[in-house]
Amino acid sequence: MKILVINAGSSSLKYQLIDMEHEEVVAKGGCERIGIAGGKLTHKAHGQTYVVEQELPDHKEAISLVLKELVDGEAGVISSMDEIDAVGHRVVASGETFTKTTLVTEETMKELLPLSELAPLHNPPAILGIEACRAVMPGKKMAMVFDTSFHSTMPDYAYLYGIDYEDYKAYKVRKYGFHGTSHKFVSGAAAEYLGKKPEELKIITCHLGNGSSISAVDGGKCIDTSMGFTPLAGVPMGTRSGDLDVAAVEFLCRKKGMTFAEGLNYLNKKSGMLGVSGVSSDFRDLTAAAAEGNKRAKLALDMFIYACKKYVGAYMAALGGLDCIVFTAGVGENTPAVRAGIVHGLEAFGVKIDETKNEYKNDGAIHDISAKGSKVRILVIPTNEELVIARETAALL
Ligand code: ADP
Repeated sequence: MKILVINAGSSSLKYQLIDMEHEEVVAKGGCERIGIAGGKLTHKAHGQTYVVEQELPDHKEAISLVLKELVDGEAGVISSMDEIDAVGHRVVASGETFTKTTLVTEETMKELLPLSELAPLHNPPAILGIEACRAVMPGKKMAMVFDTSFHSTMPDYAYLYGIDYEDYKAYKVRKYGFHGTSHKFVSGAAAEYLGKKPEELKIITCHLGNGSSISAVDGGKCIDTSMGFTPLAGVPMGTRSGDLDVAAVEFLCRKKGMTFAEGLNYLNKKSGMLGVSGVSSDFRDLTAAAAEGNKRAKLALDMFIYACKKYVGAYMAALGGLDCIVFTAGVGENTPAVRAGIVHGLEAFGVKIDETKNEYKNDGAIHDISAKGSKVRILVIPTNEELVIARETAALL
């Protein structure tokens, strides 16, 4: 069975064609600059990279080009579109409408539309991607796989905010969490690596990238996560502030003459590591600057590590114990100093890192970086959100 995984952004569209028999990526790539001049497709297959420069006025043109590339000539990997058994679409927000992977139908598309309000930057392009595929591949089975659904098992006392309960009911303002496919993948992979059933384990998964979130997974089910109603909440991130006192936002808007919308843009795009360091949102730049003595770069890193450590501590309490901590995503997989910083000081709770093992060079494999005798295993697991989308789609069929 072959599944095409689509992750559509407002001006981009990433794809992977996965053969489920060996869970092997047959081809992958992406379209850039959809709807703006200078459209481009980069396609990787047969160990080669193919580039097509072509105007892509909309998502339909983009998906048509992707299919042409998958089928056509030397870059092609299948003989016809019929070889694609189904398409799995990444959708960010499910609200409370969908708690699991859902088949795309007229009905479910109608239910998906109003959820754009919850993720105005992410859901509308996903809908464009689904509509484009339906237009180009009529009748093909398709699934929507939500970033939020892994978190739908959180108990109400964990996902509710301390606001008027009637307002929660009326407007669905609550914690939803994000990066669910990643937390699901790495918590499952951790159980497999440790030779245990997910039901037997208490795991904290740290997805640390440009956007970061930390989840508590009890017996395979998410019981809490650091992101909230939007991906702005939780630890400070590349450009996002993370948690802060809402009253400080009103104060800041007044002082800087920003509207609330401008304030949110400031918190999403100009804050976090970038805002604190004044150097960069990228952890490679921050680490280099800190090593050269830049105090604010070091401060930003210290803040990030401290915030992550606090979530780990809080989730140990929420879980009532801990078997495993997993690090994943760009920063989690590539920055030993961040991993070490987060677990240092947790030795009394049975968390001991092996400094030498932690310094391994990323080779894309799973690494156990816990010290001998550490009660809690510390793993680094490369995430694979596309594979989760493909697995969920295949399972739905
Ligand atoms: P996104 O949230 O955009 O998916 P990623 O998971 O790709 O982000 O993470 C991006 C972050 O990961 C950047 O801050 C970058 O510095 C860091 N990163 C990515 N690759 C490396 C690497 N090879 N070495 C060090 N840091 C890396």
